Amino acid sequence: MTTSDVVDVVVVGGGLVGASAALSQLRAGRSVALVEPEAPTLAEAAWDERCIGLNAASIEILRELGVWQGIAAEAQPIRSTVICEAGRAGSVRFTAEEAGLEALGYNTPLRAIHSGLLVALEGTDCAMRRATVVQHRIEDSHARLMLDNGQSLQARLVMACDGTHSALRQACAIPVEAHDYGQTALVTTVDVERGHHGCAWERFTPLGPLAVLPRGETRCTVVWTQPHAATEAVAALGDDAFCAALQRAFGRRLGGFSNPGRRMRWPLRRVYARDVTAARLLLAGNAAQTLHPVAAQGFNLGLRDCATAAAVAARSEDPGSTEALRRYALLRADDRAAVARFTDQLVRLFSNQLPVLSGLRHLGLGGLAVTPAFHRSIMRQNLGLQALARLQAEAA
Ligand SMILES: Cc1cc2nc3c(=O)[nH]c(=O)nc-3n(C[C@H](O)[C@H](O)[C@H](O)COP(=O)(O)OP(=O)(O)OC[C@H]3O[C@@H](n4cnc5c(N)ncnc54)[C@H](O)[C@@H]3O)c2cc1C
Repeated sequence: MTTSDVVDVVVVGGGLVGASAALSQLRAGRSVALVEPEAPTLAEAAWDERCIGLNAASIEILRELGVWQGIAAEAQPIRSTVICEAGRAGSVRFTAEEAGLEALGYNTPLRAIHSGLLVALEGTDCAMRRATVVQHRIEDSHARLMLDNGQSLQARLVMACDGTHSALRQACAIPVEAHDYGQTALVTTVDVERGHHGCAWERFTPLGPLAVLPRGETRCTVVWTQPHAATEAVAALGDDAFCAALQRAFGRRLGGFSNPGRRMRWPLRRVYARDVTAARLLLAGNAAQTLHPVAAQGFNLGLRDCATAAAVAARSEDPGSTEALRRYALLRADDRAAVARFTDQLVRLFSNQLPVLSGLRHLGLGGLAVTPAFHRSIMRQNLGLQALARLQAEAA
């Protein structure tokens, strides 16, 4: 005999997006269960050096969820962003001032965001299951999920937040467009001699993009993307040699680098689901779209998936009905397609050494600098504000 719980929404996956999904569905008045095998409490969570560049739209959503206050102390404001290319004179600067904002975004430790979400969930009725979903089937007007601990869950809606390799997406035979970038991102932290002055740097090198982002008073997060072998080689260096290699790739704008932290690596793939719904199920976060981190958009986009799903659920009698799922898919279509396309084009344009593309890049950076309308439109997309406005109109 198995025990079975009945809820409105089962969220599968308790990463950043799953935790956000559970909290936003609860705020929309739904009963929720969250299934996650790895780390149901923060104390058990694996260390993660990643910082997330939270944009203005995400701050707004986290504020509405009531978690931003607890996270803000660890969030480093980004006052300006500079995009430049190794070996080229041109660069483009975006500033918070021109956007009329206090900050373009906040570089925030992933652990701080996850912790804020989990602490908020602890104070709710969310049913936490430390388990893996092993099977799912549709029965009449609900979905039934079988867990590896012998329990089962019954829900009107399943939110698949189970990451890039989503087993639920595969079980529902939702097709994906997949591309292996052949690159690995190395993430670490370093001290910078001259301080960062709140500036985030994105430097395109012949081997891949290198981001240096403000983290503390004189400390920065480094996200250094190169072909797999080149990343393995720098990851294996001693601290001094690592800082010297980083210096060669980045230059001396921030003075010397020292005192590197732990180095973690992520092989990079693009996985883009062609549909985001199936019977009584929707995809959110990396399960729906896994993007290259160059534009720092993956979680920002996943958070908008969650906010949209909650807005639709709040207005629907049955959150897993065909009509509710159709509404979710429609509302997410333009935002996810635009951000995924922009991110992918950025990687491909700056990864290619063909002379004609190199010339276009140069024009591109110059164009960004001299065409105010284009400059503003890039900035609005990165801030996520257009998408948030559409979402707020839906919720109103
Ligand atoms: C180097 C790097 C830098 C990044 N920087 C940024 C940034 O600056 N800004 C930004 O917005 N994004 C950034 N991202 C992207 C961001 O980290 C991801 O988009 C986000 O963490 C995805 O979260 P998720 O919850 O969808 O997926 P995951 O974190 O992969 O979580 C999926 C969860 O599902 C669970 N799971 C899997 N299968 C099952 C199952 N069968 N049953 C139950 N549970 C299951 C797993 O245990 C896991 O906990 C970056 C990514 C990388 C690699």
